[in-house]
Amino acid sequence: MTALVLVEHDNAVVKDATLATVSAAAKLGDVNLLVAGAGCAAVADEAAKIAGVGTVYLADDAAYGHALAENVAPLIVKLMESHDAFVAPATSNGKNIAPRVAALLDVAQISDILSVESADTFTRPIYAGNAIATVQSSDAKKVITVRGTAFDKAEKGSGSGKVEAVSADGDTGLSSFVGAEISKSERPELTSAKIIVSGGRALQNGENFEQIIVPLADKLGAGVGASRAAVDAGFVPNDYQVGQTGKIVAPEVYIAVGISGAIQHLAGMKDSKVIIAINKDEDAPIFQVADVGLVGDLFKIVPELTSKL
Ligand code: FAD
Repeated sequence: MTALVLVEHDNAVVKDATLATVSAAAKLGDVNLLVAGAGCAAVADEAAKIAGVGTVYLADDAAYGHALAENVAPLIVKLMESHDAFVAPATSNGKNIAPRVAALLDVAQISDILSVESADTFTRPIYAGNAIATVQSSDAKKVITVRGTAFDKAEKGSGSGKVEAVSADGDTGLSSFVGAEISKSERPELTSAKIIVSGGRALQNGENFEQIIVPLADKLGAGVGASRAAVDAGFVPNDYQVGQTGKIVAPEVYIAVGISGAIQHLAGMKDSKVIIAINKDEDAPIFQVADVGLVGDLFKIVPELTSKL
């Protein structure tokens, strides 16, 4: 079986989400990669050095520069003539492109897999991660998205894949790129941060969030997350949101500050290695998943903790 993996990148470097996807694809068989972008030759060279990779198909064309699904999907469908599975990270990009590929191939997509049981059988979370379904696909070609936190990252630097240029129809004229507002931060990106400090509704407003959560995160070199309640109330932008409808994270340490632990929040962080919860309500559900719990007022505990670090 040969799998084609969609490389997640920004036309400059390979994003980490690719590495877990390669590990998942390797469980199916041989792995080839697709780098579709504009001015992205360096990405293909970097991708070719990922351990276990065969061919890296490089589609370098202005039409692929913003990864519009309408342009990239036909390219993938063409490459799927010689592949048995298309495997993409379950990122915004992968989740945008994979369904279109599945529809064009007329197969059912298998989303957000947690494990590869065999060539046609996978596990995936359902009910916000409260149950794990085992799904078997009878489609001849598989279209799969991968939950990055469920697989080890493939090693970078030791591979010896070969880069091969490919082309397809380019701009299909079905969509066009208007603009992007990318938030810039010096902090580690949430999905790859080793430590995350997240704040909830209890912070009360954006100023408190900035004064209580951010200094602790800065001291720890941590990423900053938030519950949906904190995002909906406008304390922080919505790309901070962790949970079922936010980002799925699994850092070494997750510190939940003034977050109750609703199942939709737990769905995004319960695979973290060590969970530390700070909450004034000793019955808060977050303590059921926490390895370390501090019961008390966050407005006292967190500044004290930050000052002692
Ligand atoms: P609350 O539930 O209000 O909890 C605040 C906590 O702070 C309480 O436990 C309280 O005891 C504690 N507290 C208050 N004051 C202090 C203090 N001074 N010191 C210490 N502790 C204090 N939520 C997400 O987070 N992510 C998602 O992706 C998400 N997706 C959703 C999808 C759907 C379809 C739905 C229906 C809901 C979703 N939610 C999500 C919302 C979720 O159900 C909860 O409403 C939300 O997580 C609650 O956020 P919170 O814990 O910050 O607020």
